Amino acid sequence: MSRELRGACFCNTVQYTVEDSFEYAMICHCSQCRRTTGSAFKPFAGIKRGKLRLTAGDAALLVHGDAEGNDTHCGACGSLLYSVVREGKYLHVAMGSLIDAPSIRPTAHIFVGSKAPWFEITDALPQYDELP
Ligand SMILES: [Zn+2]
Ligand SMILES: [Zn+2]
Repeated sequence: MSRELRGACFCNTVQYTVEDSFEYAMICHCSQCRRTTGSAFKPFAGIKRGKLRLTAGDAALLVHGDAEGNDTHCGACGSLLYSVVREGKYLHVAMGSLIDAPSIRPTAHIFVGSKAPWFEITDALPQYDELP
């Protein structure tokens, strides 16, 4: 059993726990991730869907998309919490919504081909124009 990490939105209405057993983590620079977060990029970590459990705020969720592919936000404050991906089998947890630090670290920059021109990547992680 791996340990459980806590996560929450900005206003704390939505809270979750997720197993610290992420399979991959990357930093996405695509325009969708920039707009859903309002940031230069989105660090996310992938895990099987069943390993995240909502502990508060189910009724407040704002889901943009459908059951097999969506961005799930808090409907009260708008924070992006996670995205449902890969035919609904995986979640990409927005790492900024984690309260506890996960064991995993992002290993690559992806969709660098469409990154914001005003942001410069200054670390040594590998960069991919799209996916690795
Ligand atoms: Zn909220
Ligand atoms: Zn993206």
